[in-house]
Amino acid sequence: MSNEVSAAILRRVFDDVKSHGGTFGPEHAEVMMAMNHSEADMLLLQAAVELVEKHRVTKISAEPSGRTLIRVASPSRGGVNAMYICLDHFCSCDSFLDNTVQNPFTMCKHMLAAMIAQATMKLQVLTVPDSEFANLLCPEDTPSNM
Ligand SMILES: [Zn+2]
Repeated sequence: MSNEVSAAILRRVFDDVKSHGGTFGPEHAEVMMAMNHSEADMLLLQAAVELVEKHRVTKISAEPSGRTLIRVASPSRGGVNAMYICLDHFCSCDSFLDNTVQNPFTMCKHMLAAMIAQATMKLQVLTVPDSEFANLLCPEDTPSNM
């Protein structure tokens, strides 16, 4: 999602979906249609919806701190399932890091999927102890060349 206005409107649409009990109604579809997305944005949205429909989005809550993050399992280029961590306006994927350098409003498909899944309540939910939560953010087994 490549511009500030689209990103803001999308957030509004999905906030509204959420406040209607997670139901995506015709009024939401109308707004989405009127936004006149670029082809690239449409593909991104499609990819995000697919991730949600395939139950790839998990909300992880830590106990007892109550901290949360969203984890999206998404096939990467090699076909291997990669896990991406989405925080409020951050994703750990390469596409997000590459694109936000040029445009801070960029949203990758994982962030869109996280937003859609939260609005429609199509989230897997996982609770972990705080110690494990830290490992999710900074995996200990990451190979290091240092
Ligand atoms: Zn991402």
